[in-house]
Amino acid sequence: MSSLFPALTDGPADRPALRFGERSLTYGELAAAAGAVAGGLGEARRVAVWAAPTLETAVAVTAALLAGVTVVPLNLRSGEKELGHILSDSTPDLVLTEPGRHLPAPLGGLPRLDVDPAVRTDPAALPDDGARDDSDPALIVYTSGTTGPPKGAVLPRRAIATTLDALADAWQWTGDDVLVHALPLFHVHGLVLGTLGPLRRGGSVRHLGRFTPEGVARELNDGATMLFGVPTMYHRLAEALPTAPELVKALTGARLLVSGSAALPVHDHERIAAATGRRVIERYGMTETLMNTGVRADGEARPGTVGVPLPGVELRLVEEDGSPVTAYDGETVGEIQVRGPNLFTEYLNRPDATAAAFTADGWFRTGDMAVRDPDGYVRIVGRKATDLIKSGGYKIGAGEIENALLEHPGVREAAVTGEPDADLGERIVAWVVPADPQSPPSLAELADHVARRLAPHKRPRVVHHLDALPRNDMGKIMKRALHHG
Ligand code: ATP
Ligand code: MG
Repeated sequence: MSSLFPALTDGPADRPALRFGERSLTYGELAAAAGAVAGGLGEARRVAVWAAPTLETAVAVTAALLAGVTVVPLNLRSGEKELGHILSDSTPDLVLTEPGRHLPAPLGGLPRLDVDPAVRTDPAALPDDGARDDSDPALIVYTSGTTGPPKGAVLPRRAIATTLDALADAWQWTGDDVLVHALPLFHVHGLVLGTLGPLRRGGSVRHLGRFTPEGVARELNDGATMLFGVPTMYHRLAEALPTAPELVKALTGARLLVSGSAALPVHDHERIAAATGRRVIERYGMTETLMNTGVRADGEARPGTVGVPLPGVELRLVEEDGSPVTAYDGETVGEIQVRGPNLFTEYLNRPDATAAAFTADGWFRTGDMAVRDPDGYVRIVGRKATDLIKSGGYKIGAGEIENALLEHPGVREAAVTGEPDADLGERIVAWVVPADPQSPPSLAELADHVARRLAPHKRPRVVHHLDALPRNDMGKIMKRALHHG
């Protein structure tokens, strides 16, 4: 396999590569800094990276990948119990971190290597990764833990290269693109797409450190071409737009606005479109598969859809009895199963979970349920485990009810779950953060709102008002926490 990052050795050395906050590196400087870190890796085979979204983290990961050392990115906000689990599961030989950063107890026993992007070797000292096998493990990324304890997905070099090249094809993503992002670097969205993506193209990334609508506006009005974000960020942009002409200008002028990691509420999609004339495009992926589908840059961005399978990805929908859904009718729900070079190889130390995740003929069971429109566009209706409610003989996806609730002016945030009901099998429960806590919308009002928009059997039977929804670091709603009160 060829190098993951050809621009590091082949391209012009003075091209911008990374900018995190105030600090930046050109490709030449990145090659020299990564060469220095690679030289310090010694005999390590697997390293943990304990760092914020900083230049240090980006340099550390690039260096390790070039040196053929597997990277385990860690979340600085993990509690000691979760961190202890991840470390005893992944057994890194070394921890790469920023100078001066405190290592919590579970990391204390490991040798550390402080990454200083200002320490540089001759770029010629950069290890050549071109000869490495494409099945070599590049990253072990822990899943978000939305539906259970995080599992370590082992991602081969091949998965990273093919997913990034498929996105380049779909989005006409080139070395001229400048990406803005503000995501953490311990998940595939912020790390693989947001950081390794621009480096593979020979383009650049500007990381905001902390997400703010002002930061997004500033960068897009100053030469950046694309924005990658999670739905909670697009929600904040939608809220900010009416009073921020600079932001309207920025989003209107961007080449590509991309959302992923969770469903983008239709209401936010429509508000952004109304204010800027631009439609946010969605892509669908997961830790285990990297990217599966996306709306193409020259395709139609229909709200509530995640586009079509990316080049090289085989996708099918499968009924509960295992038979494939053949209808492209926008109605017949099946589990999304995928196959392709973008897939992980295994869950680390979990042969049981790995075996359970694949069908006998090698398809990965995503656990996500979807329908397909006549033109092949995939619409995710929710997760099999938490978002499919069986009520009164119907199978109802939580997502469309959530979208309907969000269109009610009294609703700021909404999540929908099912709970056992003697009569219906399951009843629909709405968890709502009211726009005005002084006058939360009543159950009768919300039930009527949903019944008129969707269908009477989709109306919530119970409503709980909350101050905020429980969300993880990627802004995903933790439905488990709702179920457990
Ligand atoms: P865990 O597997 O530990 O429960 P998780 O599934 O949230 O956590 P990730 O791998 O980070 O961990 O997330 C992948 C999931 O995110 C997908 O399976 C899907 O449910 C959801 N997802 C990603 N992109 C989209 C999207 N555009 N629309 C709807 N859902 C999405
Ligand atoms: Mg998952």
